[in-house]
Amino acid sequence: MSFIIPNENLKKHECPLAVIRCVDFRFRESDQEFVVNHLGFADFDLYAWPGAAKDVLKNNGFKTDFTAKVVAVSKNLHSIRKLLLLWHWDCDSYGGSKAFADAEAEEVAYTKDLHVVRDILATELPEDIEIIMAYSKAVPQGLEYTTIE
Ligand SMILES: [Zn+2]
Repeated sequence: MSFIIPNENLKKHECPLAVIRCVDFRFRESDQEFVVNHLGFADFDLYAWPGAAKDVLKNNGFKTDFTAKVVAVSKNLHSIRKLLLLWHWDCDSYGGSKAFADAEAEEVAYTKDLHVVRDILATELPEDIEIIMAYSKAVPQGLEYTTIE
C-alpha cells in the first residue's frame, strides 16, 4: 500500500520553536493545541520522550544526546529561537498523580523540576536559545496549561 498526503511544509526550512514533551498519548492533541493556538507557534520541532526532559536529572546520557540533537537539528538546520519544556499532569515518570499527597504537591514537584532542568540545559545549550516552561494540570473542564518564568 502507499498513500499520498498533501504537505505544504516541505518547502519550509525554519521554525521558531522546539518542544520536548512526554510520549503519553493522552496529552498529544491537547499539547499540540496549546502550542499552536495558545502559544502561537504554528511550526515547531517536536521531541517526545517518557517524562519529557525529566531524564536530564539522571546521569544517563539523555542530556548529552538531547542537547546535541537540539543544536545540530533544531538550531543549526531549523534556526529555532526557543525551546519549550512541557510537563504534563499524572505523568507516569513521577508515578502518576497518585504518587503525590495532593494536587498542590504535584504542581510544586513539576515546577521545581522544570526550573532545575531549565537551569541545567541553559548551561549546555547556546545562549541564544531561550528556554521556556509549561505544564498541564487536570481540571474539571479538561486540562489547564500554565506557562512559568
Ligand atoms: Zn508522562
